[in-house]
Amino acid sequence: MSKWPVVMCPGCNVPMGVTAVIQDRPGTDSVTVTYECPICMTKTDRRHKGVSPTKSADPSGSSMV
Ligand SMILES: [Zn+2]
Repeated sequence: MSKWPVVMCPGCNVPMGVTAVIQDRPGTDSVTVTYECPICMTKTDRRHKGVSPTKSADPSGSSMV
């Protein structure tokens, strides 16, 4: 279950799979999603904005004790 938009391979006309999601910069809501075609292994990058990165930890302000 992917929350990213489906990208079709221009050569094979099949949906490409998401292989990596990289946040451009901490604090921003834009990410670069890497897609790979399962047939011809062509890779392409798409930038998506307006997405919330997964919550892993508070960047700051969390008390240790
Ligand atoms: Zn392809």
